[in-house]
Amino acid sequence: MTLIPFKHLNSIPLEFDVIVGNLTFKGTLVHKKGKIAQLNGTISGIIQMPCDLCAEIIERDLEEELFFYISDGIISENEDELDIVEITTPMIDMEELLNSEVELIKSDYFCCPQCEGKTLEQEF
Ligand SMILES: [Zn+2]
Repeated sequence: MTLIPFKHLNSIPLEFDVIVGNLTFKGTLVHKKGKIAQLNGTISGIIQMPCDLCAEIIERDLEEELFFYISDGIISENEDELDIVEITTPMIDMEELLNSEVELIKSDYFCCPQCEGKTLEQEF
């Protein structure tokens, strides 16, 4: 079950546990106020990422803690300082959230252990 109806969330943290491929996304969802819910979770498993320098695909152990808010639809401007993911359906698609977080992680700078050594050498 990877779809969680937003309306089912309340002040008691709801535990979720989603497995996609070799990644596990675990945590809790709790309703904060109005259209806002809060997610606390961890993504763990193995992802494959290309090195930004030599493009070699590296398997990387992932253990990423996440903390963000989810809003049911568009929210007012004064909330935009928060890290908010807007959902456009009444259901929170945990699989989609996991995939977009993984995409974010993959878009971060990453270099393989070999290249890491090289760039350090260049600096000295
Ligand atoms: Zn590399």
